[in-house]
Amino acid sequence: MNRIRLLPEQVANQIAAGEVIERPASAVKELVENSLDAAATRVTVEIQAGGRSVIRVIDDGTGMSRDDALLCLERHATSKIRRAEDLAAIATMGFRGEALPSIASVSRFTLTTRERDSTGPEGTQIVVSAGKIIAVKAAGTAPGTSVEVRQLFSNLPARRKFLRTEETEAAHIQHYLTLAALAYTEVAFTFQKDGRLLWQLPALKTGKDADARLASLRERLRALYGGEQRLLRVDYSADLSEPPLSAGSESGDSAVDPASRDHLTLRVWGYIGAPGVSRATREDQHLFVNRRPVENRGLNYALLEGYHTALMKGRFPVCCLFLEIDPAAVDVNIHPAKREVKFHQEGAVRRLVADAIRQTLLRFHTAGTEVQGQKPAADEPRPEVGATARPQPAPPGEQPSLPNLPARLRPPPSNPAALPPSQPGLEMGFGQEPSLRIAPSESRVAAPPSPTRPAEVQQTVPSTTSSSSPVPLLAVPLRLVGVIGKLYVVLESDRGLVLLDQHAAHERILFEQMLNRLEQNAQAPSQRLLLPETVELSARDSNFLREQLPVLTRLGVGLSEFGERTFLLDALPPLVKATDARRFVLELVDELKAAGQEVNTLRLGEQTVAKTVCRHAVKANDPLAGRELEHLVEDLRRCAMPYTCPHGRPTLIEMNFRELEKKFGRVQ
Ligand code: ADP
Ligand code: MG
Repeated sequence: MNRIRLLPEQVANQIAAGEVIERPASAVKELVENSLDAAATRVTVEIQAGGRSVIRVIDDGTGMSRDDALLCLERHATSKIRRAEDLAAIATMGFRGEALPSIASVSRFTLTTRERDSTGPEGTQIVVSAGKIIAVKAAGTAPGTSVEVRQLFSNLPARRKFLRTEETEAAHIQHYLTLAALAYTEVAFTFQKDGRLLWQLPALKTGKDADARLASLRERLRALYGGEQRLLRVDYSADLSEPPLSAGSESGDSAVDPASRDHLTLRVWGYIGAPGVSRATREDQHLFVNRRPVENRGLNYALLEGYHTALMKGRFPVCCLFLEIDPAAVDVNIHPAKREVKFHQEGAVRRLVADAIRQTLLRFHTAGTEVQGQKPAADEPRPEVGATARPQPAPPGEQPSLPNLPARLRPPPSNPAALPPSQPGLEMGFGQEPSLRIAPSESRVAAPPSPTRPAEVQQTVPSTTSSSSPVPLLAVPLRLVGVIGKLYVVLESDRGLVLLDQHAAHERILFEQMLNRLEQNAQAPSQRLLLPETVELSARDSNFLREQLPVLTRLGVGLSEFGERTFLLDALPPLVKATDARRFVLELVDELKAAGQEVNTLRLGEQTVAKTVCRHAVKANDPLAGRELEHLVEDLRRCAMPYTCPHGRPTLIEMNFRELEKKFGRVQ
């Protein structure tokens, strides 16, 4: 007896809908993608009750003829690809031809469309209910397409039951629209929720040129997130076909034939959070591949790898990054909702993205990268920074100096151009308001030129009007005020109060010194312990540790085998104290093991050891005297990444006069 039969089209569509249309936001995503593929310059989205009762997407794109409008409701009907080969290089958002029939099969669906380039005066309107065409008629309408989806899933009670509250569904929709608006800055977006206008984003000028695109992205970020964000601009491109480094290469790399590798470039551009800017989730981590918002584990790792010591454990970067790559080098057809992508050269892409991040962060510290504050541009009027209330900084020499404290801690005059340009903020995402923060716009306030070294000040302190980049915290003169709690060094700058975490700063300095030594292939300094200690480990830990001994030795940690599972700790780098030798060694083992799972290059192994060793830097509670503090600040200035400790915690925080005035209620 034959038992197999073909499912009716309607059922097949519902099954497809189950995969593609999970919730109202998926319908919005598919419809907006269609509008963007149709070269719309204006997209309007209206929802009611979280998209459960009404979703309306209106565009001014190419529109469709009557025949096309009928055809687009058929499964696998698409204008975007023709042959199987086209799947290998997809340049549009859609390509499967299943979104419209899927949505129409689980809702009451009205499509109204009119061709943009046709002379015909009328458009077409098609009404579909749960997959059945109910009416097809001519309709007067503006060029473009509008789709209305009512009562989504009303014929699929099980699916409807799984929908969350209206607010949650609306939030999902808004999230997708945010991504679309970031990726398509040249398109005007309007978003209306329950009759209330939430966004009206004007179309922005863009173009091929990188500066214009970055500028329009920044503008969009500002419009969507408001407030100020301390972001660094990323503009990077590299050759994917460069022979990959030995470490980290993946088998996938060989999938692309060598000939086509020749001109495969990867461009990475957008904005990432400055050091100290992070979130507890990946929520503000927006990644796009050829303008498509994507999720990709490799890229997530690449971000973490790129930030490395500039990010605290358990925190996630904040970014809006666009990857551009030949569509033939990426497979977008691996996820029902097209959320995930797979790169043919996964390993190389990951490495380059990490490199893009790393270079951006390093440039920020060393070459004066502009911090892209999201508040007023240089030419906009800035709020008055309480000029009357603000105390005038005392000129050097006249300051009320405290006994035994050095006068003025000056930025190194030798290389003012290479100074790091900004100060760390506290943790925050795109939209969050941290309690203590340095506003780039405010930090632009010029310091009065120092009478003794006018030239130097001019170089490091841009005037209020001439530059949109904030003055680096470590590039302005700092004056020591004192130390509190034996740990926090209180400093004063012309902009306000600066607090330095003595231990964190010391960790950073020690860490970079160690790495520098390693780079020069030198042995880090080491001090013999008066009382060497033995540490016994489990068999597994012993085996693991044995392999790390050469690296540890080079870093100044004198550990040697002292029996089957026993090690002798007889030397440590200067300024490192291991009060509990066993704990110190176990911590090293654990950190190295944890690092091994994420990164397996030797370089990062060394960094991990250095990080762990630095944690034991003694300066934590050691009272430092004036001269030593001066050295500490000087040494920190010389670091490549001075604003975070090797574990990503801030070394310095600033509270400018504006913030002080706010706290004291002098200004609003
Ligand atoms: P896909 O986008 O994968 O091609 P869809 O089911 O989403 O599949 O759409 C089917 C076809 O309908 C598209 O290929 C396109 O030609 C046409 N279409 C859909 N939406 C629009 C729109 N807003 N403007 C113009 N054409 C559209
Ligand atoms: Mg589509």
